[in-house]
Amino acid sequence: MFKKILVANRGEIALRIQRACRELGVKAVMVYSEADREAKYVKLAEEAVCIGPAPSPLSYLNMPAIISAAEVTDAEAIHPGYGFLSENADFAERVEKSGFQFIGPTPESIRIMGDKVSAKQAMIRAGVPCVPGSEGELPDDPVQIRRIAKAVGYPVIIKAAGGGGGRGMRVVHTEAALVNAVQMTRAEAGAAFGNPAVYMEKFLQNPRHIEIQILADKHRNAVYLGERDCSMQRRHQKVIEEAPAPGIPRKLIERIGERCVAACKKIGYRGAGTFEFLYENGEFYFIEMNTRVQVEHPVTEWITGVDIVKTQIMVAAGEKLPFTQRQIEIRGHAIECRVNAEDPYKFTPSPGRITTWHAPGGPGVRVDSHAYTNYYVPPNYDSMIGKIIVHGDTREEALARMRTALSETVIEGINTNIALHRELMVDAKFTTGGTNIHYLEEWLAHHKR
Ligand code: ADP
Repeated sequence: MFKKILVANRGEIALRIQRACRELGVKAVMVYSEADREAKYVKLAEEAVCIGPAPSPLSYLNMPAIISAAEVTDAEAIHPGYGFLSENADFAERVEKSGFQFIGPTPESIRIMGDKVSAKQAMIRAGVPCVPGSEGELPDDPVQIRRIAKAVGYPVIIKAAGGGGGRGMRVVHTEAALVNAVQMTRAEAGAAFGNPAVYMEKFLQNPRHIEIQILADKHRNAVYLGERDCSMQRRHQKVIEEAPAPGIPRKLIERIGERCVAACKKIGYRGAGTFEFLYENGEFYFIEMNTRVQVEHPVTEWITGVDIVKTQIMVAAGEKLPFTQRQIEIRGHAIECRVNAEDPYKFTPSPGRITTWHAPGGPGVRVDSHAYTNYYVPPNYDSMIGKIIVHGDTREEALARMRTALSETVIEGINTNIALHRELMVDAKFTTGGTNIHYLEEWLAHHKR
């Protein structure tokens, strides 16, 4: 096992990794930008290194600063968390070339999966079902683009090969709008992701977003830890996640989980990863793979009893997975609400000083957050300030626990989306289960404030 790990991230996930390190008896070196200097997880750290000013390109995305922080503190490994540099193959490569262990897959795996076109091609080869669409990148020729769209069938969605975070996507309903949409997505993709390549998929009308969590070691062992339903989204960004996915037969999940495990073995994948699918009419369609720990990992931890972050660290250190597929049992139901510093209905970010922070508690309640009373939410980063996760024997019990937890939660001084979560937890369709990826936006349109 490592003696010391550098945590190359901030906020709740930095704290989550710090906690995993403590439990493993590993020292965690925290890095921070000038905006995060006062954060409690930084103050409570055994070691912490300032890596630059508030803007993330100068700090959390600053590869030389992070690598030299690992050098000066004698860390052996770097955990990238999620976002920032976590899916940057060049960073993973530089980390390993500098003599540190990257806590994640190999740079090659990140590179293949980071390009959605090559990821889909790898999945087709591995026998994972994908959304029908263009075979690879779209050509420039308008005639060919129209021909591909006709074969796929309208509506189609144009997606950036290098896209992420719900950006770089455009739905096209008619041939008249097609070529212009491709050109616009290409231009945006070039500017936002430094890669103008785009591809086309059939736009599924009413799918659910279902994803499979996997864990793999360096000895070609891999397991899947069931699924998560992340269909409650706004602008392609997840708001509520749960596990298991209501109403999907176990047999179907097992079949797709086994395919994911087989794909991991085929590409020599190691570490934690998530295969994201759209699910419609009883069929799964792969859309992308995330080669890192995800925001919503706690719901899976709760229904399986597996600590995903500790396992990531253990397999990076070369240990074998401490369980087999047969030992993974799904118990009860877990739900996560993302707590964002934003207006609950207009979604404008609301950074600033938290004057009161009262977190919920009790049986089956977990709060992953770095926030506290008097914490200043900096305006420089993502608006997510934490997650409330609950577990119950049944989905009904989990829902009741979430309602109780949200009723106990008091956050003052800034706006948060707690009020929105409270309404959704009593919504008839959501509580029935199985809503599709458009449901939340439709709900918001009907509940205009
Ligand atoms: P990102 O990497 O930006 O998160 P994804 O490819 O994972 O992009 O897609 C994000 C979301 O966009 C999905 O969860 C889904 O809501 C929507 N989406 C993506 N592809 C399709 C498609 N072919 N049909 C319908 N919706 C889609």
